[in-house]
Amino acid sequence: MRPSVVVNVAMSADGKLSTRERRQVKISGARDFARVDRLKADCDAVMVGIGTVLADDPSLTVKNPAYKLERQNSGKPEHPVRVVIDSMARISLDASVLTKGEGLRVVAVSKRADPSKIETLQKKAKVIVAGDNEVDLVRVLDELGTIGIRRIMLEGGGTLIAGMIRADLVDEIYTFIGNIIIGGKDAPTLADGPGWTQETEFARLTLADAVRIEDGILLHWQVNRG
Ligand code: NAP
Repeated sequence: MRPSVVVNVAMSADGKLSTRERRQVKISGARDFARVDRLKADCDAVMVGIGTVLADDPSLTVKNPAYKLERQNSGKPEHPVRVVIDSMARISLDASVLTKGEGLRVVAVSKRADPSKIETLQKKAKVIVAGDNEVDLVRVLDELGTIGIRRIMLEGGGTLIAGMIRADLVDEIYTFIGNIIIGGKDAPTLADGPGWTQETEFARLTLADAVRIEDGILLHWQVNRG
């Protein structure tokens, strides 16, 4: 069964996920951080693109000890499976996502990845080879389904989120909009890449909820799947 996907991002009031040099910015506060940690603990896997790994070096681990314990008590590993989408296997073996915390890692690469890099990577992660040039996201999700993953939290960045929307794989989107303006036409947004030009191609959303959190607002969207 193909897993469901929930996107979670924090964006500035002008819709940017980071600066134009792709430098991580603190957009939300402690309450939203706790919400994101809860969401992560409730998912079977957390997914990011290689752009985010190279820019931010996130560990993608659950932080709250109570949530980790809760996962263990229900027979799950402390952290969700961590998944990186990385056509050319550019990830460093020292990346935090591969070295911090216990649990399975999956790196999805394409046929363009160097076989010797794949072999080294296999010591640290399950490697899925899917797609000729870029990673075939549908095949990756189907393969994640076969190892028992039912719900994936997609953390970004904008290029991967756009690819997932294009492949009609996203079910829900949480956007926390914070009280800063980052600016810059080249700063990452929720859905980067070439975008869409025809109205029929636009993803259509239904607003499920809107809640004020500290000095920002959290929007919860359902994606009207085609
Ligand atoms: P990204 O979305 O993390 O990764 C994109 C890369 O994934 C692509 O360039 C491509 O690289 C690879 N990829 C492979 N197959 C793909 C496919 N089918 N579709 C799409 N991508 C595919 O990178 P990004 O857009 O540069 O975003 C990184 C920025 O986002 C950073 O600045 C980070 O701080 C920010 N960010 C912000 C938040 C937030 O909540 N504010 C969350 C996450 C990230 P290859 O061709 O090399 O495989």
